[in-house]
Amino acid sequence: MSPRLEASLGDITMEAVDAIVNAANPDLASGSGVCGAIFAAAGPELVGACAALGGTSTGAAVATPGFALPARWIVHAVGPVWHGGNHGEPELLASAYRRSLEVAAEVGAVSVAFPAISTGIYGYPLEPATAIAVATCRAGPPEIELVRFVCFDDRTLAAYDGALAEP
Ligand code: ADP
Repeated sequence: MSPRLEASLGDITMEAVDAIVNAANPDLASGSGVCGAIFAAAGPELVGACAALGGTSTGAAVATPGFALPARWIVHAVGPVWHGGNHGEPELLASAYRRSLEVAAEVGAVSVAFPAISTGIYGYPLEPATAIAVATCRAGPPEIELVRFVCFDDRTLAAYDGALAEP
C-alpha cells in the first residue's frame, strides 16, 4: 500500500512524527536553513552523532537519533545542488527521497516529515522538485504509512498542493 501523503505549513523541528528528514550537506555539518534549525533544536549531541557517521554522499541518507526533538529519528538526506538540470539533479533528488524512506523504514519509523529538499540554498526549482518528491514518496516502501511535506512558506505549500493534485 502507498503511504498517505499530505502537505502543511510549519516548522519541521516541531513535528511529532517518528522521523523528520534533514536537508543535509555531505559533511553532515550544521549550517543555515532547515539544517541549522534542526541542529539548534536537536541539541549538541547531534553534532557528535553526525561526526561519528563521517559524512555521506549526494542522493544518500543516514539516520541519527532525534535527541531533543519530538521526532525519535532524524534522517539526514543530501539533495543535489542545482546546476541547470543536466547534471543528474532529478535522479539525485529522487534518490534522496527514496533513500530517506528506506532508511526511515529500517529504523522502524512509519510516519516521516520532509522539508522541500534542495529548494532553498541548493537552488532546485520548486515545481519540479515537489513533483519528484510526491512521485517518489507515492512509491515509498510499504512500511511507511504517512509522509508529511512540511512547508516553510505559502509558495512551497502551493507547489506541493499542485503536485499532490496530480494523479
Ligand atoms: P537546501 O540546502 O537543501 O536547499 P534549505 O534549508 O536551504 O535546504 O531549504 C530547504 C527548504 O526548507 C526551503 O523551502 C526552506 O524554506 C525550508 N525550511 C527552512 N527552515 C525550515 C524549517 N524550520 N522547517 C521546515 N522547512 C524549513
